[in-house]
Amino acid sequence: MILKFELSKEELAALSLEAQEEVFYAVPYDCDLSGNYVKNAFTVVTNKRLILLHNAVKEKEYLLADYGAVKAEPRINCGVLYGVKDGQDYLIVRYTSKHLARYAYVARGITLIKSGSTERAMSEENEKTCFVCGRALPGTKECPHCNGKYRGVLQQLFGLLASYKKQMVPILIFMLLTAVVTLLGPEVQKHLLDDVLYKEDSNFSLAILFLLAMFFVGIAGAAINIGKSYCCSKLGSVIAKDLRSKLYQKIQMLSLSYIHEKRPGALMNRLMHDTGRIRSFMEDIFCNLFTVCIMFVAVVLYMLILNWKLAVIAFIFVPIAAVVSMLWRKNIHRRFRLQGKKSDNVHSALQDVISGMNVVKGYGKEKDESEKFNLYSDVFANVQKRNEVFWAMFFPLLNFLMGVGVYLVIFSGGREVLGETMTVGELMQFVNYTSMLYMYLGWLNNLPRHLMDLVTSTERINDIMTQEPKIKNTEKACKPEITGAIEFKNASFGYHSYEPVVEEINLTVKPGEMIGLVGASGAGKSTLINLIMHLYDVDGGELMVDGVNIKDIDIDYFHSKIGVVLQETFLFSGTIFNNIRYAKPDATEEEVIKAAKMANAHDFITRMPDGYNTYVGEKGSRLSGGERQRIAIARAILNNPKILILDEATASLDTESEYLIQTALERLTSGKTTFAIAHRLSTLKNADRLVVIDKHRIAEMGSHDELMAQKGIYYGLVTAQLEMQAKKETASA
Ligand code: ADP
Repeated sequence: MILKFELSKEELAALSLEAQEEVFYAVPYDCDLSGNYVKNAFTVVTNKRLILLHNAVKEKEYLLADYGAVKAEPRINCGVLYGVKDGQDYLIVRYTSKHLARYAYVARGITLIKSGSTERAMSEENEKTCFVCGRALPGTKECPHCNGKYRGVLQQLFGLLASYKKQMVPILIFMLLTAVVTLLGPEVQKHLLDDVLYKEDSNFSLAILFLLAMFFVGIAGAAINIGKSYCCSKLGSVIAKDLRSKLYQKIQMLSLSYIHEKRPGALMNRLMHDTGRIRSFMEDIFCNLFTVCIMFVAVVLYMLILNWKLAVIAFIFVPIAAVVSMLWRKNIHRRFRLQGKKSDNVHSALQDVISGMNVVKGYGKEKDESEKFNLYSDVFANVQKRNEVFWAMFFPLLNFLMGVGVYLVIFSGGREVLGETMTVGELMQFVNYTSMLYMYLGWLNNLPRHLMDLVTSTERINDIMTQEPKIKNTEKACKPEITGAIEFKNASFGYHSYEPVVEEINLTVKPGEMIGLVGASGAGKSTLINLIMHLYDVDGGELMVDGVNIKDIDIDYFHSKIGVVLQETFLFSGTIFNNIRYAKPDATEEEVIKAAKMANAHDFITRMPDGYNTYVGEKGSRLSGGERQRIAIARAILNNPKILILDEATASLDTESEYLIQTALERLTSGKTTFAIAHRLSTLKNADRLVVIDKHRIAEMGSHDELMAQKGIYYGLVTAQLEMQAKKETASA
């Protein structure tokens, strides 16, 4: 995301920067304070001031030092940046929702500038819309319409095909053969007319010969087409399969930050939909691309050679037909896109109301909802009616216009036939070639749209392929002996650099110590765990493991030393045996059974008809929550980790399951550095130390008794939970 837009000379002059004043951020704003749209307006932040520019004129300026804080806040359909001075909020600038994230970064940047930090708020997010054409970007860095339109389209296509040279050879041969056979058809037909049918002494056997020739040309054409389609489909499927597996591998390697940013649906879409689009391009378009190009040129040349005067007459209409068809195509797309949007409105209104029927009925809003639905439905019906009328009127007209070239050829050629300067066969041949010419023209006219789809999909795929995983082994990557000593040194981290989630964390954990992480929901407990698991890197400060910076420890090696038991235990489709063995694929049967026994899982597993070979189904859906967790504990025991992560491991379980899990966990945690998050604070009583996170920082630290005596945040949380428990008990009594 761009945080420093390029300013023109006039705009820079309008800033009248002082010596040693430097521009850090320059971002557009598109509303005035009353909410009216404005253009050519920028918010510029230097190390001293915030300046608002409009049409290269300074509108206002604010001294950063005058404000205690500058904050960005989302409002309805817009956002505002305001300064806080003497406890009062002062509105500085308003912007539409598309700039929300940008201003959040700027506000964070101003906070850093004001604190005297040399750190800058940086953004690695992609832009949401293209600044050149205003279109929404399809999740890519660059706009395929503006940047990749013609530049590089073929380059990308050839780049993609370069590794499939072998499969390309038969396709190219088929393409050439198709061109030859298609050109040959009218030629044979000409001879049939001139040499047999219109000849006074017509020769029956010659007629049979030409008819047979036409028949074989037809058969050859069909056979070549089948062969070509087969090879193209095969190549399309192979390319899509290869791309899918490359993408899948890449996604596995990418850091969690990228995966979370993209949402699973968007990644799945790229894996399936975009690779599928490339496959259908190969099957439907590429298959004919070169044939049509070759044929277009060949037909033009052939017509010029046969009768250049008639050819010129046939061509006169080509540019007009091309322009008309292009305009028609644009218009019809705009119309059908609008129809699609209106149809979406009807569908989502319907889906909303049906899925929320109880709310609609509860509030007696049936009539209002029906009226709203009728309105959407009317708008859709009107757009649809207009489009159908347009289609019914203009499509035949377009066809007629595209065919005018053919009529002109028949008219002029007919006169030549009557003047006996041309034979009937030659005229028919010419008419056939002219029809082909206009047919190919129509096809070529639609090509940019297909190429655009291809470019969008390849861009979206390239976007993933060119991503570098943020968490990767450095050159210094080493495999130190890990005993489980963890140290946070003034560490800070945020999923977005404008929003720190944990700050100034200082915590030293001895090997074998059990730490309970406590705090309100959203305080940052799981975030700390994510940092310990090295799923993210700290933004500031350091995280040391056994005296070595975590960034310098070999990632796979480090992960093999960690065991995780989460509330939502993830089991893969497969047998219980394989699920336990997931962390240590070479574990023997005895080892697996021993781990299952220690995890109190052996008994319930052996009670099942298939024992360890029981198939657990997708996400382990055939097992109860407690059973899934005991399998996860067995998995962790088998791995014999040095560092253990327990995230809400005993939440929402019945008393028996909880007892079994607690005893299994005690066996698992003994002698291992353990970080545990628990919803019910009573389960953390065994922890050596409790760390309370509040307002992004460590607020309290100590044993249960120490923290209770302190009567601070932990005390408040425990008493609140006890009161809640007591209320529940009296209610159920
Ligand atoms: P806790 O575990 O204490 O409930 P978390 O560490 O899960 O809290 O979350 C801390 C904050 O970070 C929350 O405001 C949450 O919305 C935010 N957060 C958590 N995960 C992500 C993510 N992947 N991307 C952006 N923000 C996140």
